[in-house]
Formats: sequence, C-alpha cells, structure tokens
Amino acid sequence: MKIEQLTPVAVWKNFHALTQVPRPSGHLEKIQAFLLQWGKDAGIETWQDEAGNILMRKPATAGLEGRKGLVLQAHMDMVPQKTADSPHDFLTDPIPAYIDGDWVKTHGTTLGADDGMGVAAIMAIMEDKTLKHGPLEALITADEETGMFGAFGLKPGELQGKVLLNLDSETEGELYIGCAGGVDVTATMQYLEIEPLDNRKAYKVTLSGLRGGHSGLEICEGRANANKLMGRFMREAVLRFNAGLAEWKGGNMRNAIPRDAHVIITVPVRAKSKLLKLAEECQTLWNDEFATIESGITLTVEPATMPESEAPEEIRDNLINAILACQDGVMRYIPTIPDTVETSSNFSIVEIGEGEATFSLLVRSSNDSMKMYQAISIKSCFDMAGMKVKFSGSYSGWQPNVDSPLLAAMKKAYRDLFGTDAKVMVVHAGLECGIIGAANEGMDMISFGPTLLSPHSPDERVFIPSIPKFYDLIRHVVEEGVK
Ligand SMILES: [Zn+2]
Repeated sequence: MKIEQLTPVAVWKNFHALTQVPRPSGHLEKIQAFLLQWGKDAGIETWQDEAGNILMRKPATAGLEGRKGLVLQAHMDMVPQKTADSPHDFLTDPIPAYIDGDWVKTHGTTLGADDGMGVAAIMAIMEDKTLKHGPLEALITADEETGMFGAFGLKPGELQGKVLLNLDSETEGELYIGCAGGVDVTATMQYLEIEPLDNRKAYKVTLSGLRGGHSGLEICEGRANANKLMGRFMREAVLRFNAGLAEWKGGNMRNAIPRDAHVIITVPVRAKSKLLKLAEECQTLWNDEFATIESGITLTVEPATMPESEAPEEIRDNLINAILACQDGVMRYIPTIPDTVETSSNFSIVEIGEGEATFSLLVRSSNDSMKMYQAISIKSCFDMAGMKVKFSGSYSGWQPNVDSPLLAAMKKAYRDLFGTDAKVMVVHAGLECGIIGAANEGMDMISFGPTLLSPHSPDERVFIPSIPKFYDLIRHVVEEGVK
C-alpha cells in the first residue's frame, strides 16, 4: 500500500504531497509557494504575511455565520536531522517515507510528521466541501522549530477567529491547555586575576556521566545538575585546602540540563591526597544520592598545566556561593493541576576564567508573573555576588484555563467519539500557543495531535491508527462549533 492510500485518504494524500516539498526550517520558499498555489487551486482565500506564515480563510456555511470563528494552526517547517550515512539533501530531496506495519517511517531522515500531519489535516478540512462550519481560518506558521519566528511575527488582528486548535502535539488522546513561557537570565562579572600562591600544583577536575535532558520536559525528574554538583565540590575544596579557581566550564546549552563540567584548580603541593579523597567522597555520595535517577556519575582528577593567574579569593567565594545559592529545578507546581510544573529554572552554563565569569540560566513558567518573580529572585542572588544581570529572549507562557469552553467541548467530543476520556495536560516547554495567545487576547486554545515517536530525530515515525482519531476529533469540533 502507498502512503497516500492510508485512511483517511483526505489527510494522507496531503501528507504525502508535503513529503515531496523540501521544508527544513530556514528554507521555506518551496513550501510557501506550494501552499499558496494549493490554496489558489482549491479556491480558498490564501495569503502569506510578512513573517512568512501562510493564512487561509473560508467563510461560514450559510446560516452558521454567527458562530465563533475557528482557527486551525500548525507549522510548516521541519527539523532536518539525518543519520551519518544518509545522502539526503533537505533542500532538494523528497522525504523517503514508507509504511512499516502500524507506522510511517523514513530512511535515515526526520519524517516531518512534526508538524506535517497537522498541516495535512488542515488542508483536508479546508478543501472539504461537505463540512458544515462557522467562520474558518488556517494559520500555517513559519520556522517554529528554530525559535517560533512565524508565531512571533504574526500581527495582532491578522486572525479573526477566537478559538484556536494547535495541531502540534505528539500523543493522541492528550489535550494540552497550557505551556511554559521562558526568559533567559545572564549574569556576568569582570575581575582582575591574581597569581596563584607559591608551592601549588594545578589539577583539572572533571565531572561527567550525568543524564542531562530537556530543561523543561525533564526538569521535574530530579536529575543532577553538573554546575550544582561542581559547586558543592568547590565549596569543600576551598574549606579543606583553600583551592584556587582558575577555570570553570559547565554545560553548553541554555535549554539542556548540564551533563558535564570541569574546573582547573590550584592546591598546595601537600594537599594532593586530600583532593583525591574529596573527589572520591563526592563521587560516592552523589551516586548514592541520585541512585535511582542517575547512574555512573564520575569525578576525575588529573594534573594540569599551572595557570598563570586565577580568581582572587573573595571573587572565587562569591561565585561559588552564588552558584550554590541560586535556585535550580522546580520552583512551583500549578495550583489547579496536580503534578504539573508551573515554574522552574535551569542553571545551564557556567564559564569562569581569564578575568570573566558568565552564568546562563533559563527560567520557564506557564504563569508570566511567576516567571518574572523567579527571574528576579535569581537576579537578587547574583546581585549579592556583585554580578551584572540581564534578562533577554522573554516569551509568554500559556496559562491554563480549566474553565475554557473549548476544553469542555473537546472533552465531550472525545468521549462521544471514542468512549474514553482524553487526558488534559500542560506542557512545561514552549508552544506557539503562548506567543499567539499573548498577541490575541481572549483566544481560547487547545493543542493536540496524532501519536509521533522520536520527533527531531531520524527515528521519527507516526502511528497510523492515531490519524483517523486525530482527524475525526478536528472534524467534530469544526462541525459542532464552540460556544
Ligand atoms: Zn512541532
């Protein structure tokens, strides 16, 4: 069987067509031209806005003009990842998708079901002339994967509808009603270095083997943070043998829990055995503390070249204190939704050396004022250490509304259609709904999707039996409307 023959054909034929059009993030000319032409051919009002989003509008069926306008939303770009041996060129080649049992997969590339399945479903709804519906719009956003640029660029007023279905979630049966916003916190300090004391030796102490993970989705799992553990080691190293600090590098991405860190320290020649003992103690202690979460945390000590200079004692102590005092991990759960993170911070990156210290953190929250409260408390901590702190890249969360009329309608639709209850969830990561909601006040939104596994990787695949359910649910909401 061919992909375009799978059920429902209305969706799969569009998905197949999308696999033939190159659309890696940052290179959207081909997919934009394709969608514009497709809309024109289907007789649907279709245009491209300044941010590169494609919009479509279809008037209500006669007699249903009074209904709330409904917006169907998905993103057109896909993450271009391939295996090392794949010859695929994402700028020119069609995606080599194929059917394997209950799954559609590809050969060595991402599939682009994220979010091609959403776009394909939108196309199917827009071209269906048998559906009865209120005012209908489609928003197919540009460059979601690299920073939600299309959503950020969407002008207030471009959309008329007040109810939005975001089709970019990854587990059928889950309805998302909130997501986290974020803000980057960066603390810096410049200082004059001093020469290390006499009779010292330099060592590189390396921490590795941590699991790391997504700074939103996995922040609630209590995984070890390499910068925090290194902070604990350094504090003891200063207390026990007055270690000097010449360099510290920990973590490398703001949105990843840091997995490794190293420091270059100077210690009195006689203190070598104390240093080795401390490293061993820390390693044993941490593997014990994190026994069910981490496995194989290692802290190794090796000789290093003597640095010409290091941080003065007062600066060293201030930096270590700030790293230890700063909040990291979950700060608060959502009061109305059990076991769901509202506000968190990830102490992502530490860079100390050559007279300069830079700390980078990412704060997330579905509640914008809690996000800023958290960012400001972190700033207070670094202020006390004499650092300069700035906030950047702030974007809005999507605060869940458990009383949303759309949620009530979709829960009922799900139960009526499938005889079971959908799971209502909030994701502690960014979704375009946060951005779109911030620019379109009062927009009632839900995010859902079919079941995808391993998106953003060459293992990406979509579960074929989830597509009819995904599409039926959209059709049902489109036909029934929302109060
Ligand atoms: Zn996506």
